[in-house]
Amino acid sequence: MRRRLRLIPILLGALAATPAPASTAPASTYTALAALEARVVTIGFRLTTANAKWCPVQQPQFGWIWGDLRLYTPKDQSAARAAYAAGDSDAPFLAAIASGSPAAKAGLSVGTPVTAINGTPAPSGEDNHPYARATAYEMLFAGLPLHDPIAVATGAGSAALTPVAGCLSDFRVEAVDRPMGMAEGRLVLISKGLAEFAKNDDELASAVAHELAHNILRHRARLDAAGVDRGLGKQFGRSARLFKQTEVEADRLSAWLLVGAGYDPAAAVRFWTAFGQRKGRPLFQAGTHPKWRDRVASIEEEIRAIDAARAAGRPLEPPLIANPPPLE
Ligand SMILES: [Zn+2]
Repeated sequence: MRRRLRLIPILLGALAATPAPASTAPASTYTALAALEARVVTIGFRLTTANAKWCPVQQPQFGWIWGDLRLYTPKDQSAARAAYAAGDSDAPFLAAIASGSPAAKAGLSVGTPVTAINGTPAPSGEDNHPYARATAYEMLFAGLPLHDPIAVATGAGSAALTPVAGCLSDFRVEAVDRPMGMAEGRLVLISKGLAEFAKNDDELASAVAHELAHNILRHRARLDAAGVDRGLGKQFGRSARLFKQTEVEADRLSAWLLVGAGYDPAAAVRFWTAFGQRKGRPLFQAGTHPKWRDRVASIEEEIRAIDAARAAGRPLEPPLIANPPPLE
């Protein structure tokens, strides 16, 4: 199975020390992961591009998630290669493509390797971390002009794409059963367990929109600038209070992002209600996250504000983006 990132999650606590699935996992495991990635990339593309006008920092969006066979143990690489139709190339490949995206319109398909961008060989990454090349690809594409057409070499051929301006974020699905999400500034990471917990795409979009809101509001950087304790101390005192503030802000903004992209914001109420009541939820997050009833109440409040703006014929203007309250 795919190796796992070492990250400091914001949303749902630290990654569990869950044993990796057996390396003899059937190919269907990879097919299932690819299917989740296809849903998340489509949701992410829709949320970032439909809400671009509200995002202070933008990047060109192509509508893809990168795959790399180096993410898998050598034993599992052939199964992953088959599930993603990744052929023989060793280059990073398209693990998922958003429907209606520039990548889809260019005729690219899942499994297609990309070996060069605008005539320059693709980056090889700075170290041997399994995600190094995917990260280098993401950052290279994010730094390109918002609207300029690009050409990618795909091993056997090439393709031309014209990006769509979107909010700053790339998306990944992590092969972790524990339901968790993470937003570290430029990435939104959704675990397999969280994606599977959502009953439908509107609910999954609620989870993705919450993480995207963290990135739009620059919570990671602002919490770091505020000197919060990311260790055990985050459960207490000022650090806990500031983490909680960012969670409330992400919940509130997420309702507007969902509406902006045509999703049902009431799905966020259903999702966080079910999530807050799920079996096996960790109790130690009590310090950094509001109680689920409070989360749901603040989302409902935003839905009422959106409905009121619409009823009055006012343009929708999401709160918090222009003048987020200080973290202090
Ligand atoms: Zn969060």
